[in-house]
Amino acid sequence: MSKIFFHVDVNSAFLSWSAIKHLQDGETVDLRTIPAVVGGDEAQRHGVVLAKSGPAKKYGIKTGESLFAARTKYPAIKVVPPDFDFYVKNSKAMIAILQDYTPDVEQYSIDEAFLDMTGTEQLFGPPLQVAHTIRQRIYRELGFTVNVGVAPNRLLAKMASDFEKPNKVHTLFPEEVPTKMWPLPVGDLFGVGPSAARRLKERGIYTIGDLAAMPRADAARLFGARGDTLWNYANGREADPLTKQHAKDNSYGNSVTMPKDLARPEQADATMLALCDSVGRRLRRDGKTARVVTVQLVDNLFHRTSHQTTMHNPTNSTDRLYQVARELMRQMWPARPVRLVGISAEKTGTDNFEQMDLFTDSARLDKQEKLDRTADELRKKFGSVVVTRAKLLMDDAEEPRALGAAKDKDSAEKGSP
Ligand SMILES: [Mg+2]
Repeated sequence: MSKIFFHVDVNSAFLSWSAIKHLQDGETVDLRTIPAVVGGDEAQRHGVVLAKSGPAKKYGIKTGESLFAARTKYPAIKVVPPDFDFYVKNSKAMIAILQDYTPDVEQYSIDEAFLDMTGTEQLFGPPLQVAHTIRQRIYRELGFTVNVGVAPNRLLAKMASDFEKPNKVHTLFPEEVPTKMWPLPVGDLFGVGPSAARRLKERGIYTIGDLAAMPRADAARLFGARGDTLWNYANGREADPLTKQHAKDNSYGNSVTMPKDLARPEQADATMLALCDSVGRRLRRDGKTARVVTVQLVDNLFHRTSHQTTMHNPTNSTDRLYQVARELMRQMWPARPVRLVGISAEKTGTDNFEQMDLFTDSARLDKQEKLDRTADELRKKFGSVVVTRAKLLMDDAEEPRALGAAKDKDSAEKGSP
């Protein structure tokens, strides 16, 4: 059966949702019809534009720029603060509607979801028709518009939903890739951040089509493994799954949403240790070791960042995983507070020992592995409550929330609500 996916993306989500809230609160002007932005506290120096209306866009106002800069472009701009509780409510209501059409809904960010619609034709009719039904239902029942991308994989569905906005359904089938996707600027390709786009342009690669036509080996030479992924994306192939849920089985991962947003990496250490312990335990249970550690962070605006390290020696030691993850967190910690931390261990093999080299303190490692194994045994016997590392009991300190600083564009994935 041929696969079919939808990507549903709310148009100017924060601005649309705030507009609805204002109307509900008795305001007469719809923020979507005037130059308006959702922004952090203007009194704070780092207040930025989180979302903009269509009319604000016409004045050249951009998401991510400072409110000060926005005011120089249109002094009378209406600025409203974000209302995250209301956003989350709308997000949940949308997901509930989407779940009427398939059990396989993956929320990708606060305002985006992937739907695996494969095999639903008997139930709901042709995909294009269902996509329009979903679009209209969300507008009728919830009052905001979405774009729906329809395609044979998640990558193409996501690219398609980004075509002309708002309130549109677009398809992107393989035969449409040359006309609909290849003419776009290379920076529009999923996974190509501003710095990658710059490097490609220096090489004379301006469009997605240019990248697709580039020899595969050249792309790999330019960016390593990521170059190969991007080259596949440019050719319409979802070579690496867009969502972790569909990553191959040989990865061991865990993530957790924090009860409160965290401003500094040290506040996440205890949680990260617990996650590494659970991942390490599963690796050891299966007699496996991992070579690659990936840390994922999601900030309070749902921007995802992930960084990874390939280790010289594969490991399943909680301690080693934690050392690597801890270091990664410090390198990649975003400007905005973090709400989710995750770790995954990939490239697993069944070598049960670490190959020692001159740089490894073999005695210490040996001891650590023994400790890990002993802890695993005790857990098996007495349950996980007994063996808790002292670190896990430590309370993290309260920190003031800092909202509104610009994100690290290069390491964050493309797109904003
Ligand atoms: Mg959106």
